[in-house]
Amino acid sequence: MKQRAEPDAGVLYVVGTPIGHLGDLSPRAKALLLAVDTIACEDTRHSGQLLSSLGSTARRCSFHQHNTRTRLPQLLAELEQGRSVAVISDAGLPGISDPGEELVAAARAAGHDVICIPGPCAATTALVSSGLPSARFCFEGFLPAKGRERRERLQQISEHPCTSVLYEAPHRLVQLLDELEELCGPQRPLQVARELTKRHEQQVGPTVEAARLHFHAQAPQGEFTLVLGGAPAPRKETHDDQYWRDQLQVLIASGLSANAAAKQLASGGDRSKRELYALLHQEEPPSSTAHSSSTAIPERSDCAQSDRD
Ligand code: SAM
Repeated sequence: MKQRAEPDAGVLYVVGTPIGHLGDLSPRAKALLLAVDTIACEDTRHSGQLLSSLGSTARRCSFHQHNTRTRLPQLLAELEQGRSVAVISDAGLPGISDPGEELVAAARAAGHDVICIPGPCAATTALVSSGLPSARFCFEGFLPAKGRERRERLQQISEHPCTSVLYEAPHRLVQLLDELEELCGPQRPLQVARELTKRHEQQVGPTVEAARLHFHAQAPQGEFTLVLGGAPAPRKETHDDQYWRDQLQVLIASGLSANAAAKQLASGGDRSKRELYALLHQEEPPSSTAHSSSTAIPERSDCAQSDRD
């Protein structure tokens, strides 16, 4: 298949850059950064090192949360004039807990093509190296720093049946691990990925308790991504037919019609009124006794569960 020429006029390129190991910059990303007209950087000083080492002479401008309003129209005007623009962040993929999302949305709304030159991302790198289920996962990014919002998000995460991926600053990691232990319990599967792709890359787990003990003993340093196993499926009581027959008979003996008794029991949600009513007209199995039994079976979860749950 013939590839489109890169960079092309009036196109916004979202370019992934390394999260540590400089060898992770793809040849395509490098070629693009050498040839594009303008590079919007989260921090021009930080990205300056990478760009200078490549020999990029593209015009550089800053693009971050504090100048988005003024920069957006300027970058859109460049695209309008037929210039090619790349957006990069300090590390990883722009738009993932980094600037980029608003520029992409504005460029698309203005009718410009947006092309991603994919590259490393701490969230997916941590996820696929964690050993936790990756078929379905929820990216949580950074939590609110404190207060009710933080508490509510943590509560939601603790109940989420799928794997969650979180970013956390080193000075808040121990607090987060304490909170996770309180809400998810000590045995919930957790992998803390530290300094991914760097010299001191490390994985700490496999449970919340193990990671909490580790980082209470050893002060966190570097960059951290947490991969938390999903909540175990809740267990639901289910009763056998005989139990429901007995319950129906008790209500009927108290004066309710069969119909009303079935309706009342169905309001509990375990069996429908039709199923309950039908039980009254089914023969009791010969071996049935006056005992009723109940069994606990796990409810089906919508998400893949960790085999360590
Ligand atoms: N855009 C980036 C990406 O695609 O991963 C994320 C940027 S966000 C501002 C920075 C956070 O990502 C860090 O605080 C840390 O939680 C996580 N992170 C970035 N690099 C990492 C690394 N090498 N190892 C572990 N976590 C990392």
